[in-house]
Amino acid sequence: MEVFVGMQKHGFEQVVFCYNESAGLKAIIAIHDTTLGPALGGLRMWPYATEEDAVFDVLRLARGMTYKAAAAGLNLGGGKAVIIADPRRDKSEALFRAFGRFVQSLGGRYITAEDVGTTVEDMDYIHMETDYVTGVSTAYGSSGDPSPATAFGVWRGMKACAKEAFGSESLAGKRVAIQGVGHVGQNLARHLYDEGARLVVSDINEEAVARARAEFRAEAVDPEAIYDVECDIFSPCALGAVLNPETIPRLKTRVVAGAANNQLLSDSDGDTLHERGILYAPDYVINAGGLINVADELEGYNRDRAFKKITGIYANIEKVIGISKRDRIPTYRAADRLAEERIGLIGQQKRMHLPCCDAPA
Ligand code: NAD
Repeated sequence: MEVFVGMQKHGFEQVVFCYNESAGLKAIIAIHDTTLGPALGGLRMWPYATEEDAVFDVLRLARGMTYKAAAAGLNLGGGKAVIIADPRRDKSEALFRAFGRFVQSLGGRYITAEDVGTTVEDMDYIHMETDYVTGVSTAYGSSGDPSPATAFGVWRGMKACAKEAFGSESLAGKRVAIQGVGHVGQNLARHLYDEGARLVVSDINEEAVARARAEFRAEAVDPEAIYDVECDIFSPCALGAVLNPETIPRLKTRVVAGAANNQLLSDSDGDTLHERGILYAPDYVINAGGLINVADELEGYNRDRAFKKITGIYANIEKVIGISKRDRIPTYRAADRLAEERIGLIGQQKRMHLPCCDAPA
């Protein structure tokens, strides 16, 4: 695979291949863009079939983090790391400490975090070698489970969508269909229920459905039936790629606003939603609460401060809607433009030399 071709195509800064034989470590750290600040992004542990698959995944994910952090208004760039190994079989103290030393060697250009296949315990091992890690045990000042923060941000973003679609940000009396009442979905349901929304939920986990019915008087439908529910807002909080040519024609909603990552199967599905007059809250803008929360750890975690920042997702969604109208483009494209405009503008300011900060030591 021609790594430099991929780097050039999407403007990557650095890709680091990390190898340690005794620890069994094969890892890749990708730093996409640090215009706004150090690259923050999770560490994924996955038994990739080929090295090409791992490189492809880490580049794709790192670039996504640049856009997510920029659109969230954070002073962070985008990065990601992968360890090529099986999380069920190959974990060890040595493995994560070896990885931690590579993170440390980058001097703060990359800050790692939990992701698919890694846990708080793994982050604690990494923390033994570097301070450039978030999501460690709460005993070390971590922010803990990000789901309540993510759900709070989705609720705020949903209100901004409601203001645009219905003329009022109030969700009282609105019918909201939530796909997936897991960590984020349950927390979101609570905010909506407290505000007086009427909930319809689906989940493949019957216990989760029963809890939502009992706690939030939610109506339950079969997992496949959620796309057909007549509602004001459809909220995907389970899986990616749920907005696709098969499901979009079935939707009877004015707004799609949920926590799931990569909701659009492809860009053309974002175009279809736009053409159908359905307001889509771009996933990486509306679900940035967890990232904003964990980023607060870098300043010494303060929950009140973090949640105050997360309220800003309302304004971020308003900005996306504004750009979508200004440039007559679907919201998923407007989100990218919001991020790119911010990176461009802040990058311009950094061109002024500051002797205190920019001079060689
Ligand atoms: P979770 O695993 O706790 O919850 C997902 C729920 O979806 C589970 O209850 C599961 O049973 C259900 N589900 C799975 N397949 C389903 C289907 N076909 N139909 C209906 N329900 C189904 O995960 P989570 O932490 O709540 O995250 C939900 C989504 O939000 C994921 O896509 C995740 O990547 C994304 N996300 C989460 C966070 C966070 O802070 N946890 C942050 C950003 C994005």
